[in-house]
Amino acid sequence: MTATRQADVIVLGAGIVGVSVALHLQERGRRVLLVDRGEPGAETSHGNAGLIERSSVVPYAFPRDLPTLAAFASNRSIAVRYRPAALLRMAPWLARYWWNSAPDRLDSLGRAILPLIERSIDEHRRWTDAAGTRELMRGEGWIELYRTPRALDQAIRAAAELRGYGLAYDVLQPEQLSSREPVLLPGAVAGALHWRDPVTVSDPGAVTRAYAALFTARGGVLIKADALALSGEAAQWRLPTDTGIWRAQEVVAALGPWSADLYERLGYRFPLGFKRGYHMHYEESGYSPLQRPLCDAQAGFVLSRMERGVRLTTGIELAGRDEPSDSWQLDRAERIARRIMPLGRRLDAEPWRGARPCLPDMLPIVGAAPRHPGLWFAFGHAHHGFTLGPVTGRLLADMMTNVPTFCDSAPFAAERFRSRFT
Ligand SMILES: Cc1cc2nc3c(=O)[nH]c(=O)nc-3n(C[C@H](O)[C@H](O)[C@H](O)COP(=O)(O)OP(=O)(O)OC[C@H]3O[C@@H](n4cnc5c(N)ncnc54)[C@H](O)[C@@H]3O)c2cc1C
Repeated sequence: MTATRQADVIVLGAGIVGVSVALHLQERGRRVLLVDRGEPGAETSHGNAGLIERSSVVPYAFPRDLPTLAAFASNRSIAVRYRPAALLRMAPWLARYWWNSAPDRLDSLGRAILPLIERSIDEHRRWTDAAGTRELMRGEGWIELYRTPRALDQAIRAAAELRGYGLAYDVLQPEQLSSREPVLLPGAVAGALHWRDPVTVSDPGAVTRAYAALFTARGGVLIKADALALSGEAAQWRLPTDTGIWRAQEVVAALGPWSADLYERLGYRFPLGFKRGYHMHYEESGYSPLQRPLCDAQAGFVLSRMERGVRLTTGIELAGRDEPSDSWQLDRAERIARRIMPLGRRLDAEPWRGARPCLPDMLPIVGAAPRHPGLWFAFGHAHHGFTLGPVTGRLLADMMTNVPTFCDSAPFAAERFRSRFT
């Protein structure tokens, strides 16, 4: 006979978002089953650049100035590259992204997500001691490098326009930069901005796993199973697994870039696009270690010192989620990176590839599924899912337990795409 077990909530997906939702619901007394087909934190939440991006107060908009657009259109930019066929498929998504990136829209979307960005570090820190992640977190911000004086001047002006947000940053001339980061090669850059508020981590996958371990240490159940086996509706959800059938009144779908695999079966057609990215680790070969992540803002890649070595993460590739990898961006970024700091040999046999799950209004979907009572969504965190995972967990858990939310949750509602439900 097949065993049947009962939970209050089944959380599907154990990336940083699902794990955080599970922890928050557990703290509110819910019996939570956390499900992933693999290990927790082994996918997008593993491969990112590890920035808890407190200084990212303006969403990543579609560029609207002609020189940047021309550079991207040439398809020779390291920061943004596209597959022509994917671009055609993504045209409606890109058009909406463009529309949402107009200054007035961007301003209101930025104001909607700001309360989450502002709480992002505190929400991670709530679990730091209990999960044992203190050693993996560094509170020294990250550095944005500029290779030409003109680009540096523009960046200084853009940073000054953010003064209303009260962000802490320093403008660094080359001498100041090399005393802050002695590993940098002389003459490589014209200067930099040092954003001091963000926290960075040296292994985002390990942080996510530690949060998942905290969840199980507190009595939560974590199992491997296929989320797509979910069936049922309205407070009668059912998930068959190798070890029996789990039932629950509520389900949270937090499947990151794989969210469409589930929601499309249920009749939703959210406009989820993918900005793919790659990483590679390198042996540290400088006489002094890299202190903080460095972002080459012009070429669009990040160098972070991780537990495994120096991780180079690339910018955006517009392509289908599962299309084969292409090392063009990584290879070129590596050439520039080697002019910025000494890098040893590659440590991974193949580049890692992931996909940032992106909605065209740059906001995630966090909230109730409009047509399925008891089903909740938490996905689409784009460039900032590692930053926003824990604060998303709080927001959704507050909504699910009828506690007043710390910010207006309406901008994150699935209902905003209601014309796309079938
Ligand atoms: C190159 C790159 C750099 C980035 N840098 C940063 C950064 O510095 N800071 C930042 O904040 N964000 C960054 N991001 C974004 C961030 O990594 C993501 O937004 C975030 O990890 C998404 O988390 P998630 O939990 O939604 O998805 P995931 O971590 O992908 O988790 C989804 C989970 O669902 C599981 N799953 C999928 N399908 C099924 C199924 N059928 N059954 C069971 N389980 C299933 C998967 O196994 C996975 O564990 C970066 C992303 C990339 C690609």
